[in-house]
Amino acid sequence: MSETTTDTADMNDMNDLYGKVALVTGGSRGIGEAVALRLARDGADVALTYHHSEERAARVVERIKAIGRRARAVRADNADPAAVRAAVETTVAEFGRLDVLVNNAGAGVLAPIGEIAAEDVDRVLHVNVRAPYLACQAAVAHLTEGGRIVTIGSCMAESVAFPGGSLYATSKAALAGLTKALARELGPRGITANLVLPGPTDTDMNPADGPGAEAQRSLTALGRYGRPEEIAATVAHLAGTGGRYITGASVAVDGGFTV
Ligand code: NDP
Repeated sequence: MSETTTDTADMNDMNDLYGKVALVTGGSRGIGEAVALRLARDGADVALTYHHSEERAARVVERIKAIGRRARAVRADNADPAAVRAAVETTVAEFGRLDVLVNNAGAGVLAPIGEIAAEDVDRVLHVNVRAPYLACQAAVAHLTEGGRIVTIGSCMAESVAFPGGSLYATSKAALAGLTKALARELGPRGITANLVLPGPTDTDMNPADGPGAEAQRSLTALGRYGRPEEIAATVAHLAGTGGRYITGASVAVDGGFTV
């Protein structure tokens, strides 16, 4: 009975992240910026990493502080294992705890397989796969009951609608395995792990007026690009109270790209 009863107070508490601490990788721009701001609006203190965009990361920090939350930007190249681990430890040292890890930072190389260099394979797999893996490894030492891991994959892990995606799709497909395995491993501790699969989303990585945008738009059921805030809304749901019975899931937020 107690496992299935809906508590009214809990339902009124949806997405209440007050008192929680989140770390968002790649929070200086695009989807990561929107996620960092949304989690802060939902009440969380937020640490965010960046690679090159120090000024943009600082601006996101100022916007979060203006919301009334604590914020900190940490330079951490996802290709550097020590930096990835250090970002987690810095977050805990600064804010005293970690409740939500959002693995968002990612890189893409789109080219025919014959043109992909071994160095590209290493870099993309390090940034898109090894870094989330190591961030999860560092985070699970700190996450407690109610902890959340949300990883940003891609609709291209489900449906590769164009040639040239061999490396990017390989990297993003790996994240489903990580997510499912962590869901099983961390479930007994009351910690969830989920994967969000964005479709074409208007950011620097994939601008809605860029080359190839019209073809991507035409492949969505809704006939338009997504906005970073629309991805952030699903991340916030999974990170908040409303997501507490969702784990091991891959959630498409793609306007019907993969329908
Ligand atoms: P952007 O290029 O707009 O932003 C990328 C963010 O990741 C920036 O904050 C950037 O930091 C950071 N980043 C990039 N490389 C590294 C690195 N080596 N180490 C640390 N941080 C890094 O990308 P999006 O917002 O579009 O993408 C966010 C995530 O969403 C990615 O994982 C991407 O694969 C995924 N995605 C995006 C889609 C889209 O259509 N936009 C579709 C499907 C998935 P800095 O500013 O310092 O460079």
